[in-house]
Amino acid sequence: MNKWQELEARYYMQTGRRSPLTIERGEGLRVWDDEGNEYLDFVGGWAVDTLGHCHPRIVKALEEQGRTLIQTSNQFYTIPQLQLAEVLVENSCMSRIYVCNSGAEANEGAVKLARKYGRVHRNGAYEVITALNSFHGRTLAMVSATGQPAHQDIYQPIPTGFVNVPYGDVEAIMEATSEKTCAVLLEPIQGEAGVVTPGEEYLRRVREWCDKQGLLLILDEVQTGIGRLGTLFGYQQFGVEPDIMTLAKGLGGGVPIGAFMAKEEAAVFEPGDHGSTYGGNPLTCAVAFAVVDEVISGHILNNVRQNGERLMKGLGALQAKFPFMTEVRGRGMLQAIVFSEDVAPDVFTACLANRLLINTPRPNIVRFMPPLVVTEAEVDEAVEKLEAALAQVAQDMGLLKG
Ligand code: PLP
Repeated sequence: MNKWQELEARYYMQTGRRSPLTIERGEGLRVWDDEGNEYLDFVGGWAVDTLGHCHPRIVKALEEQGRTLIQTSNQFYTIPQLQLAEVLVENSCMSRIYVCNSGAEANEGAVKLARKYGRVHRNGAYEVITALNSFHGRTLAMVSATGQPAHQDIYQPIPTGFVNVPYGDVEAIMEATSEKTCAVLLEPIQGEAGVVTPGEEYLRRVREWCDKQGLLLILDEVQTGIGRLGTLFGYQQFGVEPDIMTLAKGLGGGVPIGAFMAKEEAAVFEPGDHGSTYGGNPLTCAVAFAVVDEVISGHILNNVRQNGERLMKGLGALQAKFPFMTEVRGRGMLQAIVFSEDVAPDVFTACLANRLLINTPRPNIVRFMPPLVVTEAEVDEAVEKLEAALAQVAQDMGLLKG
């Protein structure tokens, strides 16, 4: 344990298990620990560092806005908030936006909006259907929305008004629908569950069902939005348009920001219905505007698609060598390997020794979500380091072919 890890053990609430690494600084795809060791970062702040660490445009936006105006409250109009609103509305299927501070808060806002919609248009319907194994955040209501009993049990009684059904199963949504239902809330790809991608027709059929029943479709694009899958938003790859969409993570490229957006018919809030002290503040909005502008006007989406394919090919080649890799899945810069055994922690440790940072959302799954500016050479380097790590794990655990 180094000094910082001792301080954490003594002073910090023990809410999660950290990896044994203290990161001091970053640039692009690289980070350095407190002893000056360099790592290739395929965690990317948990799918947050869209432009890599300390990208010049982000630093410039922070510096310039920091000197200009940081916070005024939503009592007044501020310029970066409205520039961000314009660029996101004009480049999506949505009509309006509300900017907040995190993904959980964005989903809370979306559910409040859906409940108001239910009150106005569906005789007071309030229930939201969500998926098992989803992840929508850590606030109490999002603990109910997040269909993971392990996250729910210790906080009972948790807010009611959510029904969790199996992901990928349209019939389950149909069966769970009643006169109390106002919306269906889904991730286009379940990120925290280990990059679970639904069948081709799933979202289209859910959309059809929502249209038929007069329900709102809310897509949680906190992880899939802002270019991560190779299009600005994930829904663009699934042939559906949501009524409400939530964003966070990659939107800020590292600063805490979230947003929910809605089509005009669903944007039923009136003055006084919702609010936030920091939501839409000039500092984080100036950074988010720089991030979105860079993703839209640069070559980033193309880069995500091309290098996403390169990564998938690289991982596929490893699968041929390591039979305990049972599946490679995902799109763009959100990919995962599923193993036949619970070796993810061992693979993580071996990668760390090879100076590659990866994420382990499940004991048998590792996930890759590098910054979207990743280069071909960096993809190849990650695959090489991973191969060395897998060879080590295979040898240590007797998992070699034959
Ligand atoms: N929704 C999805 C799909 C997520 O992946 C996450 C975080 O991992 C959240 C919501 C919660 O976001 P935050 O941690 O910013 O509250």
